[in-house]
Amino acid sequence: MEPETKSLSEVEDEELENLLNELQEKLQLCSRCGLCKEICPVFNTLLNEAYSPRGKNILVDSKKIEPKIFYACALCGACEELCPSKLELTTIFRAIRTILVKKGIELKENKEFIENMKKHDVPFDVTKKEQEEFYCC
Ligand code: SF4
Ligand code: SF4
Repeated sequence: MEPETKSLSEVEDEELENLLNELQEKLQLCSRCGLCKEICPVFNTLLNEAYSPRGKNILVDSKKIEPKIFYACALCGACEELCPSKLELTTIFRAIRTILVKKGIELKENKEFIENMKKHDVPFDVTKKEQEEFYCC
């Protein structure tokens, strides 16, 4: 049976390669201390390192991007607050989601969500243009 989504590591693409190289460079500042993980609600629910912010960083670093892991993030920013290296983790995770959408390998739930957001008025203070450019929640 075909997997529901591909992993980004299965997609060969220059734009993607450049983005991952850029993110890898930023993540050189990550000391792997794990402070971000302690506060992450997703990690504290799933208790799986891969789903923690530190785990996501390690996956970016090794260019192993699984869509379901990168959508398992509330983008709450709690990890950034604690990070001693001041890494902008939500910006990094959003960039990954954006590329997943551009490559057409995001989760089907996200695809439906974005289509609905574009079709209907959204309950946020955004312009029509911003609404058209949604890639993820
Ligand atoms: S808190 Fe910052 S430096 Fe520490 S593991 Fe998390 S992202 Fe890396
Ligand atoms: S932004 Fe995502 S990774 Fe960071 S603490 Fe919130 S849920 Fe966890």
